Amino acid sequence: MISGPQFPLPANEPEVHFGRGTSAASELTKALEQRDVVEIPTVIGGKRYFSNEVVEVRAPHDHQRLLARIHRPSEAQINEAIASSKAVARDWANLTHASRATILHRAAEIVATRSRMKINAATMLGQSKTVEEAEPDSACELIDFLRFNAYNAQRVYAEQPISVASAVNRIDWRPLEGFVYAVSPFNFTAIGANLSTAPAIMGNTVLWKPSEKSALANYIFFEALEEAGLPPGVINFVPGDAELTTRVALSSRDLAGIHFTGSSAVFQSLWKGVASKVDSFRTIPRLVGETGGKDFVLAHASANASEVAIALIRGAFGYQGQKCSAASRAYIPKSLWGAVEQELRDCLAQLKVGDVADFSTFMGAVISEASHQKLSRVLSAAKEDPAVKVVSGGKTWSEPGYFVEPTVLQVSDPKHTLMTEEFFGPILSLFVYEDNAWSETLELIDATSPYALTGSIFCTDRFALHQAEAALVNAAGNLYLNDKPTGAMIGQQPFGGGRASGTNDKAGSYLNLLRWASPRTVKETYMPPREWQFGA
Ligand code: NAD
Repeated sequence: MISGPQFPLPANEPEVHFGRGTSAASELTKALEQRDVVEIPTVIGGKRYFSNEVVEVRAPHDHQRLLARIHRPSEAQINEAIASSKAVARDWANLTHASRATILHRAAEIVATRSRMKINAATMLGQSKTVEEAEPDSACELIDFLRFNAYNAQRVYAEQPISVASAVNRIDWRPLEGFVYAVSPFNFTAIGANLSTAPAIMGNTVLWKPSEKSALANYIFFEALEEAGLPPGVINFVPGDAELTTRVALSSRDLAGIHFTGSSAVFQSLWKGVASKVDSFRTIPRLVGETGGKDFVLAHASANASEVAIALIRGAFGYQGQKCSAASRAYIPKSLWGAVEQELRDCLAQLKVGDVADFSTFMGAVISEASHQKLSRVLSAAKEDPAVKVVSGGKTWSEPGYFVEPTVLQVSDPKHTLMTEEFFGPILSLFVYEDNAWSETLELIDATSPYALTGSIFCTDRFALHQAEAALVNAAGNLYLNDKPTGAMIGQQPFGGGRASGTNDKAGSYLNLLRWASPRTVKETYMPPREWQFGA
């Protein structure tokens, strides 16, 4: 229930700029040069556990550079984490919203100030993000998630039914009965913060399994939460083996929800795992998953070629195409293609790929050797395929890190797998359509991929735009008009998609928070009847 202070609507955290010669640039450079190897423990009930099962974290763009060592928990320790969250659950649920929100606000302040350079540097080194990609993620979006979730929880709690002269009604916004299993991906440090704290602000306890590939930055955030006063056990930090941790979590009768972001295949396996034993849980688990995408950019003949080309460069190659929202298939009208192609080639010839510690780099390395091998195979096959023309790029190299050149491929078959599958790398596939085939192209886009996450339409003809929005109504959960399909801001473009892209619960909004509450309705009647006959 709401008692105490009311928190105002937050503003989005402004970005710090790291221009040459600024004090921000020199502070960040210092953090990037730090060579200590961090030992990342499992944290259960506030206690740190170090084990013999260690996984090394290395910089993807410089795999000789060891950054951290993750100490994986044993099966017994994962069970202990579940027990520890159960022990604190009632006290945590009974705190006021203001107390819980204060912890999130304080953590946001820590990240915004003292820990900002450290978490940005960890995201840059551990996940190979440039500063232009790290600052909006590990600082701004992470801070926004904390502040907006605290604010949106207050909106949820304020929602109450009507009362009448004869009775008072209320909703108790209870947390779920049990713990929430939060499983986060590597590609945004902010997502780990949201998956763990969104259920917690609603009074739930959480078993958080971060991706090993982002564990360093996630652990720095977890330390900020501890410093902000998060009570031990409310969120346990469990960087365990994915399959083992999941098996243990799904074996517990107290599993009340899964808060997942990652690939569609893994989310579907989690869903099946829960479904196969649904009668073993105390309460039917809530399943929230934001998953993969094959996000489109559609240009109409009325669009500006230069704006289309720039949106493709930024949308497809920012963070090496490793955003769920990355533009990975494009549809360009024949009349525009010559100009778009020229601009793409000109820009890509200048675009720098390399060490992210150099602030003029546009793209770092892809996240892992496995991803590098997969993308190399896709590009080798494309080069041999007569249905594909390499417009630009296509090279890969693996020293000193896992690099893939930004690549544009033109396909002659719009249903080619290059237009349907998510590769999660810097590969943009495109199809050039006849200008008079606008309506057919809309149908094609809608039917080509199983995903429906983001999409963008470049068009200045209002009638054509209106037709496209209607035809593509289910093709994207986040639709952009005359803009690239990436870069959603908390509070401005609530994020999530449908079809194979997930449950579309809109991360960072009150809609997501509703999934972590189990409302109890209470009616109290002032004058209970004393006669059993109606009308007496
Ligand atoms: P992933 O599915 O490989 O991993 C995500 C998480 O699941 C990690 O913590 C991982 O350890 C865990 N995991 C892996 N195998 C598992 C298993 N068998 N059982 C249980 N957990 C398992 O995804 P990723 O490579 O970290 O991230 C990339 C994917 O995430 C892409 O498909 C991308 O589109 C998607 N993504 C979606 C959104 C969104 O909001 N829709 C946002 C970011 C990323």
